[in-house]
Amino acid sequence: MALDRKPAPNDLRAFWMPFTANRQFKASPRMLVEAKDMHYTSADGRPILDGTAGLWCCNAGHCRPKITEAVRAQVGEMDYAPAFQMGHPLAFELANRLVDVAPDGIDHVFYTNSGSEAVDTALKIALAYHRARGDAARTRLIGRERGYHGVGFGGISVGGIVNNRRFFGSLLNGVDHLPHTHLAENAFTRGQPEHGAHLADDLERIVALHGAETIAAVIVEPMAGSTGVLMPPKGYLQRLREITRKHGILLIFDEVITGFGRLGSPFAAQHFDVLPDMITCAKGLTNGVIPMGAVLTTPAIHDAFMQGPEHVIELFHGYTYSGNPVSCAAAIATLDTYEDEGLLTRAARLEHHWQEALHGLRDHPNVIDIRNMGLIGAVELSPIDGEPAKRGFEVFKRAYEEGILIRVTGDTIAMSPPLIISEDQIDELIGTLGRVLKAVA
Ligand code: PMP
Repeated sequence: MALDRKPAPNDLRAFWMPFTANRQFKASPRMLVEAKDMHYTSADGRPILDGTAGLWCCNAGHCRPKITEAVRAQVGEMDYAPAFQMGHPLAFELANRLVDVAPDGIDHVFYTNSGSEAVDTALKIALAYHRARGDAARTRLIGRERGYHGVGFGGISVGGIVNNRRFFGSLLNGVDHLPHTHLAENAFTRGQPEHGAHLADDLERIVALHGAETIAAVIVEPMAGSTGVLMPPKGYLQRLREITRKHGILLIFDEVITGFGRLGSPFAAQHFDVLPDMITCAKGLTNGVIPMGAVLTTPAIHDAFMQGPEHVIELFHGYTYSGNPVSCAAAIATLDTYEDEGLLTRAARLEHHWQEALHGLRDHPNVIDIRNMGLIGAVELSPIDGEPAKRGFEVFKRAYEEGILIRVTGDTIAMSPPLIISEDQIDELIGTLGRVLKAVA
């Protein structure tokens, strides 16, 4: 239906909001107008404690002066530079800074503008890598049930979310999926679950079915965030690494959420001590201030492309805004802030307090599981009358009214506060959630 009159600036109808129940939202909007450190301010003037770092991205909290200033200065100095066959110093400086914080063995950076683009870029690099080595039959991509890898065609194909198939059809051919790692016997585990390493062995079944020589890459989130905060069982990622290596299959860690300190190390790859062939990141890369993503690779991946004549473009891929100077300035200032304030390891120091506070909700109404690691946590609720997502959404709305921002996927409440959160603020966040759970029951 076309708008029946020209909209005024504050008319809510024209903006088709992403991943949002638009009609419901526009009937009773939740509007944020300011942000500082751990808090948003709502349009009706209330402080809202940010329990989700925006969308898992503002790891240093909001409107941090160093980042704000860097963006402001860069916009005035050089707003944009062509991304192809031209360079600017900040893009090189940032790549070196990223290699410094990345796991040993990662030493090249390809820029994108989002996590979705980072995922599709990594999948394309995987296909092109095998071709560059004369292994063009390796085209099959393996994802995982309940994986979330953004919204590009590659990402939704390797992802394991039924709604993507319901909405968009059968997606890319030649994709298979590992089973998810969410096992009932791990309910209420503190930290990494004991059971489920064997689920990685399903990759051997897929290899036996299709032939290793047809498989290009496996992509997983080391810890699945958006589909309910699913932890990797002990030994699982190591097993996946062994099997992929044995069969010449690339392993991609999608660290769009786990990158930049969420689990207590700069990247989850370091936390779990598993080196993948590529890491995708975004979100915390710029503290959410400017859109930016990246693919980090090992020298083996990069160097496979550097064999042909020097005047030839080695990888036929890139974006107008790859390495945008303002994004680079934001990212460098973000890394400075993380390093100045010890934020890339702070989650490890807060983990115990966070864990104990979170598991204190165990006996609250309708709670069927609690999961945590670093500064991320999930409280899973039983569905109302078997109808998923209804109770979770009620809790989300009530929590916002009570002054905390949480995230809900289905009936799982996910929390991932900025890494600057204090112990008192953790208690406030979880205490408020506890009251909301009782009220909604
Ligand atoms: N991969 C993972 C693991 C994510 O969590 C997300 C976003 N939540 C994405 C990819 C997509 O990132 P973006 O929304 O920046 O495209």
